[in-house]
Formats: sequence, structure tokens, C-alpha cells
Amino acid sequence: RSSAPEPVEHLSPSDVFIAVKSTQRYHRERLELLLDTWISRSAQQTYVFSDGEDEQLRKRMGEHLINTNCSAAHNRQALSCKMALEYETFINSGKKWFCHVDDDNYLNVGPLLSLLSQHSHTQDVYIGRPSLERPIEAPENPGTPGTVRFWFATGGAGFCLSRGLALKMKPWASGGVFMETAERISLPDDCTVGYIVNALLGASLIRSPLFHSHLENLGLVSDIHSQVTLSYGTAENRRNTVNLKGPFSVKEDPTRFRSVHCLLYPDTPWCPRRL
Ligand code: UDP
Ligand code: MN
Repeated sequence: RSSAPEPVEHLSPSDVFIAVKSTQRYHRERLELLLDTWISRSAQQTYVFSDGEDEQLRKRMGEHLINTNCSAAHNRQALSCKMALEYETFINSGKKWFCHVDDDNYLNVGPLLSLLSQHSHTQDVYIGRPSLERPIEAPENPGTPGTVRFWFATGGAGFCLSRGLALKMKPWASGGVFMETAERISLPDDCTVGYIVNALLGASLIRSPLFHSHLENLGLVSDIHSQVTLSYGTAENRRNTVNLKGPFSVKEDPTRFRSVHCLLYPDTPWCPRRL
């Protein structure tokens, strides 16, 4: 096909460090679905960053479940505490690429590798989907009038950083400093990553339409085979999922992730066989 540009760098799955952010109360409800689907094919390079011990998950994931000891509260400190550990663990892993997803994301590793292989991991690369149409603002210095404007990739759609860029982030992200940086601008973890990359280091966000969060209308996503991430919203009144027919009904598979997985990997043992 003519559409795919020549790769800059050949990549194998083991070159990518995948961090999944989760929390105790979503272990059964969300994480097991991911373990049954995309994580089952990427278990070696995927780490779940959560906030509590879980015997059942520990049995299934071993060292790949990381109990951060961050608070289980959904506040800025707790979330940036997890991101700080994702970052630190990636730096120590020696891998070429860092990719973050939430526990309501399906990650399609094939298209992810194709996308990343179009860039060099030694350059400054920050790829994802901006959640806003315009840059966000933060105080230049706390308590003073000046502001800085910058772009960030929304964490709920997933994003990736090259090792080259991640190493440059160290002064603001390593050894506990990430949480201080997040506090300084009073913004969530994904904004803080954008602040360090875009505002402080001057590297730009590469926008990719292949990353998806439940902030967009997922029913409009076509060509599921080519997307890097998907998500879902299942609030009773406002279900927001990708639209695909089978093989499971909406009742059996409300998030559609099992159906997506069978579309991508039809020879999975639990996927219904076509005759
Ligand atoms: N999350 C967390 N601690 C919490 C609540 C949520 O770490 O107390 C994680 C959750 O597991 C998910 C991400 O934060 O990976 C986003 O949570 P959610 O999808 O519930 O909220 P959203 O921001 O997408 O509305
Ligand atoms: Mn979400």
C-alpha cells in the first residue's frame, strides 16, 4: 500500500514500555477485560500502575502489577503520583518508547508500532491527541500574573514519549519532582507532561487522529484495524462505544472490546469461529 511512509527505525514490540493507569476499584470491572484482550498479547511489555494489593491480579500478572502506594483518591496528587512512577519505571527499563494508557483504553499494538517506527526514539517525540482545540494556560510562576500556553495530549486517549525526550524531562519529572511540577501549575498529570514537554522544553505535540478517548463520539470511528487506541463510556444514559456488529452482542460485550479483539485476532480461543 502507498499510504504507509517508510519506517525511520525498525521496532519490535519489546522496544515499547506500556503503562496502564488503574485503581483498586477498577481491577475487576475494567482491568480484567484488558487482560483478556489486548494485554494478553503484550503482557511482556505492559505494566499496570495501581494503588492497592490484589492477590488475584498478582497471580495473573506477577511483577507486571505495580502497587504504587499512591493514594486511591481521584485527586491531582494521587494521579500525578502514579504518572511519576510510570515515568521512573520507564526510565529504568531502558526501552525506546514510553506509552501511557488508561484502564478504559484498548491498545492496538500493530498500528502503534507502525506509528512509532516513523520516528526516531532519540529525537524529541511526543505523540497523542489534544483534548482541547486550543492550548491550555498555566501560571508562569505561582501567585504572579504571567501565564504560559502549551499543548498536551489527553491521558484518556493514550500518548507516547520517545526515550530521547523523556531523558530531557528528568529535571522536572524524576525523583519525586513530577508531583511538585504538577502542584506548581495546579493541573492534572497529563497536562503536566504537556507542560514539561511543550512549555519548558519547547518540543511540540505531534497530533495523531489514531488515539481515541471517550470525550469524542466513538461511534464515528471507522477502520478499527488502523486505530492505535480506543475507549468507551458506559454511563447508562449515554453509552459511547465504537460501533461494530459482532461477534458479541452489546449485552454480552457492553464496551465492545471483546468484539474488537476478535475482529483483530479472530483465532483467539474464546472468539466464535466462523464456519
Ligand atoms: N483512576 C485512578 N484513581 C481514581 C480514579 C481513576 O487512578 O481514583 C484512573 C482510572 O483507573 C483510569 C483513569 O484514572 O485509568 C481515568 O479514570 P476514569 O476513566 O474513571 O475517568 P475519566 O477522567 O476518563 O472521566
Ligand atoms: Mn476514562
